Amino acid sequence: MISVEQALEKVLSYVEVLGREEKPILECQGQVLDEDIYSSINVPPLDNSAMDGYALQAESTIGATESSPAVLEVIGEVSAGAISEQVVGPETAIRIMTGAPLPKGADSVVQFEDTDEALRPQRPISQIGILKEIAKGLNVRLAGEDISQGQLVLEKGTSLRPQELGVLASLGKAKLAVIRRPVVAILATGDELVEVGKPLPQGKIYNSNSFSLAAQVTRYGGIPKILGIARDREDEIEAKVRQALDSDLLLTSGGVSMGQYDLVKDVLAKQGEISFWTVRMKPGKPLAFGLIKGDGKRVPHLGLPGNPVSSMLTFELFARPAILKMLGKKNLSKPTVSAVIESRVKNTDGRRVFARAMVRREGDRYFARVSGPQGSGILTSMARANGLAIVPEDVAAVEEGETVQVLMMDWSEE
Ligand code: AMP
Ligand code: MG
Repeated sequence: MISVEQALEKVLSYVEVLGREEKPILECQGQVLDEDIYSSINVPPLDNSAMDGYALQAESTIGATESSPAVLEVIGEVSAGAISEQVVGPETAIRIMTGAPLPKGADSVVQFEDTDEALRPQRPISQIGILKEIAKGLNVRLAGEDISQGQLVLEKGTSLRPQELGVLASLGKAKLAVIRRPVVAILATGDELVEVGKPLPQGKIYNSNSFSLAAQVTRYGGIPKILGIARDREDEIEAKVRQALDSDLLLTSGGVSMGQYDLVKDVLAKQGEISFWTVRMKPGKPLAFGLIKGDGKRVPHLGLPGNPVSSMLTFELFARPAILKMLGKKNLSKPTVSAVIESRVKNTDGRRVFARAMVRREGDRYFARVSGPQGSGILTSMARANGLAIVPEDVAAVEEGETVQVLMMDWSEE
């Protein structure tokens, strides 16, 4: 048996960061930037107002109070998107809206609330009283205060979240070079499997793995390519596997245990390079890994166990980091939290146990409760879980009240 870490290291040693593609920025969310981004403009491009109010010279307000306002002549108005042609002097002000470029001569903006505008019904307004002294530069956003022209704004290798996309749009970028998404082929194997939407004959079960796996692929940034179901026959598995040759990764589920019909590993063996491992973890012990070859291509193949929970869990631990590596991501591991376990969890055979658990936060502590029966076919306890509580290999049981590490599959906002 090999450890979880050894298995992961091997899987990762077979996958490479993928090549680049260019596309519209909005399609790039979750992908990794493949170019340094410099700004060709200042953001904001001009000094502008951070408030609705009056643009003026701060000096004009010296000595102003509510009972003795500084009264200025209003010589115009400027809204966002416009440029004022007028010049503000010591006796004058221009009514200004948030985002409007600061008129010439003005150095500050006083907000409406600090003027007597509400008491002056005439429109357009001709005079305004300023009710307090203001500091020079008040409510003025300076040109280039966010980004200056020529600046390196985002480095190659940055993961693109909504805020990065916003920054890129503020530079006027319409397209980007990013690392492309991996296409992940998904093949279910087993004579017992039936596709959803069809009647269920006696003795059969629905193929659920293709769905949980495809959804996991999508969630972590890959593009799933569903190859359907292969019966437990070598020729059928081989033919389906060949359809994965134009993908970046092949995931199969089932057929990797010791049973008579567990043929995936035999097919893999025929392709040349195969490692067949028993990983010291529970659930999800058997795992096959190899390269499928053909048409001059070599595609990594991860043979996941068939049990629905095992297949999802081995995906989390091995396929997810592989996909993230191909996407060019730096952080391949999921966050863990320390949580107080509220039920006893046994470890009967020295493997690392991943117990499906519901984690909640109370005050500044996390608590984890096992989410139901832990058989590797019981997918509903996975559905009730947001984390996987870990019992290390060398611990026979964790007792109620002890602290464990929980690998978080989701955070509570989801
Ligand atoms: P295997 O690894 O092929 O022996 O499968 C182990 C268990 O997982 C068996 O009970 C299978 O019926 C079940 N199983 C295999 N593939 C799937 C699938 N695609 N969807 C749901 N259950 C599956
Ligand atoms: Mg099977």
